[in-house]
Amino acid sequence: MSKKRVGIIGGTFDPIHNGHLILAEYSRLHFHLDEVLFIPAGNPPHKDGDGISPGRHRYNMTLLAISTNPHFRLSAMELEERNTTYTIHTIKRLQAKYPEVDFYFILGSDSFFDIHNWGSYKELVTLCDFIVLKRPDRDMDKELEIKVEKFNKSYNSSFHVLEAPLIEISSTDIRARVREGLSIKYLVPEGVESYIEKTGLYRDGNGK
Ligand code: ATP
Repeated sequence: MSKKRVGIIGGTFDPIHNGHLILAEYSRLHFHLDEVLFIPAGNPPHKDGDGISPGRHRYNMTLLAISTNPHFRLSAMELEERNTTYTIHTIKRLQAKYPEVDFYFILGSDSFFDIHNWGSYKELVTLCDFIVLKRPDRDMDKELEIKVEKFNKSYNSSFHVLEAPLIEISSTDIRARVREGLSIKYLVPEGVESYIEKTGLYRDGNGK
């Protein structure tokens, strides 16, 4: 029997937006993934916990966002971690717990260009397959292909660039829009939009 294939998408999800969902769905379809696991970051080293909204809000918003897709799952494993969370530990823990699963880590090109700053990246990139999606304004197509090829050669990694529509949505932009009282309709799922409104997140610099 062939192994189960599970995508992992990590992020601060502050808030989760339609870009993340499109990223996950395209990866699922193209790579025939059985599921995609969303893992909100607990205390990521590169974001320093600085002004990130409380984990429970980011967890609740992610839960609302994925509720209409039966293939999407949510994990609180990083949020439950007291210490700084590193992607390498998360992947190793998942692989130890689910040895029958092949994991695919999904990320945007901006994260890929930053990957040499991730903890133990040389080991990390050998652990599983990686799916990189282009992000507008954050990369140059050619450079992405070149770096992916170089990486795969140098580190024996399996990065795949996935052609998908470029989505110009970021959490930073959404937080700014809320702060300025602008609509975020169609940038985030409806449930997330109402949650942000109800909780007052990102208003008056709430959150970040
Ligand atoms: P922020 O603006 O706060 O940095 P973000 O929109 O980049 O947030 P994250 O939660 O940091 O969201 O992103 C999680 C992952 O999703 C990262 O790998 C990031 O590159 C990717 N990603 C987010 N938005 C997009 C997008 N519009 N297109 C492609 N990749 C994306």
